[in-house]
Amino acid sequence: MYPKKRLFVGLICLSLLVVLLLVGLVWYLALNRFSLINQILLLSVGSLFLILLGMVAFGIGGIVLTIWLARSIPPLQSPIRIATNLLFPIALYLGRLINIDRDLIRSSFIEVNNQLVRARKYLVSPGKVLLLTPHCLQKADCPIKITNNVQNCKRCGGCSIGSLLELTERYGVKLAVATGGTFARKFIKDYRPQAVVAIACERDLTSGIQDINPLPVVGIINERPQGPCFNTQVNLNRVENAIQYFLKGGD
Ligand code: SF4
Repeated sequence: MYPKKRLFVGLICLSLLVVLLLVGLVWYLALNRFSLINQILLLSVGSLFLILLGMVAFGIGGIVLTIWLARSIPPLQSPIRIATNLLFPIALYLGRLINIDRDLIRSSFIEVNNQLVRARKYLVSPGKVLLLTPHCLQKADCPIKITNNVQNCKRCGGCSIGSLLELTERYGVKLAVATGGTFARKFIKDYRPQAVVAIACERDLTSGIQDINPLPVVGIINERPQGPCFNTQVNLNRVENAIQYFLKGGD
């Protein structure tokens, strides 16, 4: 087995072992709960579980309240992060079981994320805002290479790249065209932005938002009239609105 596979298989085996040990410990303590030390241990394990459950419940409450009040509640930011990171994979799995389209759940997650970001009213200087776009926005038969330097674009109007360049110049924010998640992460590392406006499909946006958390990201789902990853488009008003939001510190 190659080392990369061994690492993953090793980690899932270790996770299973930890879960089994925890279940075994609780079972053992429950069966032998009459000694004082076992009662203390049982109480500790139960308390830890309840704290985690409480954090998740506060996180869900935080999400609902933030959306409802349209303003951020700072003490609930950590529980919100824990709840979304822990529950999102479960929500996706449950959705699949009851036949809900994954992209529908992902787009709902992106909307909730955008609402939570907007509620925090970040005020960011133009040089610290990064507009991150996928390569598939470029017209497929355009001969110009823009991934190394987006300024190479001739702004012929054949795709959205030229308009995005104009937008970023008007507001003084940075623009990067990524050919995939690895490059998107590299741009984040190189540019060190304080806020990101990201254009991508539901899957890439969802994983990107989670990957670079707690960096604020307003996600805009691309339009795919010719199918995935081919001549995709974006609503420029939504992009401009997201840039303005970060530059003004609110809507
Ligand atoms: S606007 Fe024109 S030149 Fe620029 S990337 Fe699109 S097709 Fe190519």
